[in-house]
Amino acid sequence: MTTRAADCVFCDIIAERAPATIVAQDDRVLVVMDIRPVTAGHMLVIPREHVRDLAEIDPDTAARMFHTAQRLTRSLSGCGLPHEGTNLFYADGEAAFQEVFHAHLHVIPRFPGDGFRISATGWTDQPSRDQLEANAELIRAALEGDN
Ligand SMILES: [Zn+2]
Repeated sequence: MTTRAADCVFCDIIAERAPATIVAQDDRVLVVMDIRPVTAGHMLVIPREHVRDLAEIDPDTAARMFHTAQRLTRSLSGCGLPHEGTNLFYADGEAAFQEVFHAHLHVIPRFPGDGFRISATGWTDQPSRDQLEANAELIRAALEGDN
C-alpha cells in the first residue's frame, strides 16, 4: 500500500492521472523523463510512496532509488544520447532548490560544454582543520542520537 497526497503532481503521475514519459518502474520506484531537462536524457527517480523529505524515505526505497540511478547511468552509456558522465542531484528542501515536494533523484547525463553549472561562493575560504573537526563533532553528536 502506498501513500498518495492530494495536489502532488508525482502522485498524480504514479496514479496515472497525469501524463508522463515513463522510462522504467518497479514496485518501489518510477523513472520518468524530466519535462524541463538540463540535458537530453535527464530523468527523475521517484519513490511510489509520497514522502516529502530525504529523511522520510524508507531505507530500502532509498537504496532502490540509488541502485536505479546506477542502472540508468549504465544505460546512458552507449544509448546514443550525449553522455560522458552523470550527475545525481538530490534537492532536499526549498533552500536546496526542491521544487516538487515529493522526494525525487535527478539523473543528469553530462558531457563537455553541456552548459550545466552549479556555482558556489562559499568555497573560497578553506576552513581550518579545527573548524572541520568542530563541525564534524556537531554532526557526530547528532548522528549518535539518530537511528
Ligand atoms: Zn506525491
